[in-house]
Amino acid sequence: MKYDNITEGKFIERPNRFIAYVEINGKKEKVHVKNTGRCREILIPGATVYLVHNSNPTRSTYYDLVAVKKQNRIINIDSQAPNAAVKEWLCQGGLFSDLTLIRPETVYKDSRFDFYLERGEEKILLEVKGVTLENNGVVSFPDAPSERAVKHVGELIDARKNGYRAVILFVIQMKHARMFMPAGEIHRQFAEKLAEAKKNGVEILAYDCEITEDSMNISEPVPVRLKEILRFDLLSSIPNPLLRWYDENRRILPWREEPTPYRVWVSEIMLQQTRVEAVKPYFERFMGAFPDIESLAGADEQRLLKYWEGLGYYNRARNLKNAAIQIMNDYGGEMPDAYSDLMKLKGIGSYTAGAVASIAYGKCVPAVDGNVLRVLSRVRMDDRLISDPRVKVAVEQELQEVIPSDRPGAFNQAMMEIGACVCIPNGAPLCGKCPLSSFCLAYRENKMSEYPKKEKKKDRSIEQKTVLVIKDDNRIAIRKRPDKGLLAGMYELPQLSGFLTSEEIIQILSEAGLHVIRIQPLEDAKHIFTHKEWHMKGYLVRVDELEPPFPTGEGKDWLYADIREIKEKYPIPAAFTAYSKYVDLKSGMDGYKEV
Ligand code: SF4
Repeated sequence: MKYDNITEGKFIERPNRFIAYVEINGKKEKVHVKNTGRCREILIPGATVYLVHNSNPTRSTYYDLVAVKKQNRIINIDSQAPNAAVKEWLCQGGLFSDLTLIRPETVYKDSRFDFYLERGEEKILLEVKGVTLENNGVVSFPDAPSERAVKHVGELIDARKNGYRAVILFVIQMKHARMFMPAGEIHRQFAEKLAEAKKNGVEILAYDCEITEDSMNISEPVPVRLKEILRFDLLSSIPNPLLRWYDENRRILPWREEPTPYRVWVSEIMLQQTRVEAVKPYFERFMGAFPDIESLAGADEQRLLKYWEGLGYYNRARNLKNAAIQIMNDYGGEMPDAYSDLMKLKGIGSYTAGAVASIAYGKCVPAVDGNVLRVLSRVRMDDRLISDPRVKVAVEQELQEVIPSDRPGAFNQAMMEIGACVCIPNGAPLCGKCPLSSFCLAYRENKMSEYPKKEKKKDRSIEQKTVLVIKDDNRIAIRKRPDKGLLAGMYELPQLSGFLTSEEIIQILSEAGLHVIRIQPLEDAKHIFTHKEWHMKGYLVRVDELEPPFPTGEGKDWLYADIREIKEKYPIPAAFTAYSKYVDLKSGMDGYKEV
């Protein structure tokens, strides 16, 4: 299919579906857009566009916009082009050989289809859909909800039942598409109807096109992925087997057996980024120290952090306290039960709000965390990136439709449980024990390790440090970390940037007024945070006496305390475990176990 009189221009704006403004030869021209779809992602200001001169004298526009350049390829957006290209292709023997009749536009019941074809006795209805929506090689249809499209698919199912061969042909108006999927997020009914059509024997095909500035010709078949459509059907298959499995296999956990709003909230915050087994002893001890919202709101921060010592991500503890203060001030000390009110509390996002509302109050809302996203990604072979916050929002909405209203809390806990115990994040999932395996797509295709899809992780930055265990007869030097940033407000063994030698350390300590009696190198250690790694060299330094530090220079902010005092008062994070053991000072989780 070829256009005459192609002109190039620069897209300026599109005030409505029919009209656009384009700069042609330095002049702003009003042009007609030959596609009433949105095409928003390609018709962007400054894009190179291609226009044909229209010869209709009754038109107020002289040009029709038919194609757009996106990076290095041209996308044709002319909604009449697919039918014209298909007709040419059919005439050349494309798609079907030996056709005895090709008739464009035919009426079947209440629908008008693009082609009626005959091949001997065989009667074929062919519906053509142009596809211009593309993202990362995946093309989809429609780009806006279309009731007409759903109706056409329904009529094709009917025609198939009445003896016709029925075909839907998606003509991808560009080259290099990896696959076609129905745009389930944009128009769910169309996606579902297409799945139904496929089940009923309607053929669903996609072909890309060779596109130049002035031509468009059907080229190669493109894989059609209808699993995307199954997303919705698959979700509704989950609750029954999942709840049956949960009732028989759920773990007994302290917060589960007495699911008050306060206990559910604290446990969910502790469980973020932390394993259940590690949380258990912390939870009991925390509940002993801060048994209710009031005691948490009034907690001394240093004491609070001491009870959190070793769990990491210390802002969680501070947020708990701040939210407790909010609850005291705004809700009379009662944890609110509405999802929207829970979301207003410090440190509570959609997951925790969903968990508290559903588990403690029986509200029908989902709780979607990384575990749930992973399980659903595998069950549905969902190519969406689970790190994308928009995907989490979409999954929350999807789950909202299938969460059982009589057991929302159990459903959410069952989803978390299966993610933690069966469909595990590291290592092979235990599909043989999984209640979802009968319909899990990843399991069926043995592609469990390929889901969820992940973005390449950014490399962590590496910081080199020298950690000093400085002691005299009774005391050890420690230092408070800044109130903001990594391990904010915690205490640490003094550390210096870079890897230093014994001589350099002796020099620095003597400038700080300390007389070194003995210095002993310790083993190297590494601590990994989410975005950075500390690579550490350590020294055990014996000084004659820890004198009050000089007011300036290294050591000015050190404080000296004996082991017992540190254990009681000063939270030391797990990053220092490799060195704190040399003074019998256990840090992080180890320190916690001992208290
Ligand atoms: Fe995960 Fe396997 Fe279950 Fe699928 S069958 S949800 S991959 S454990």
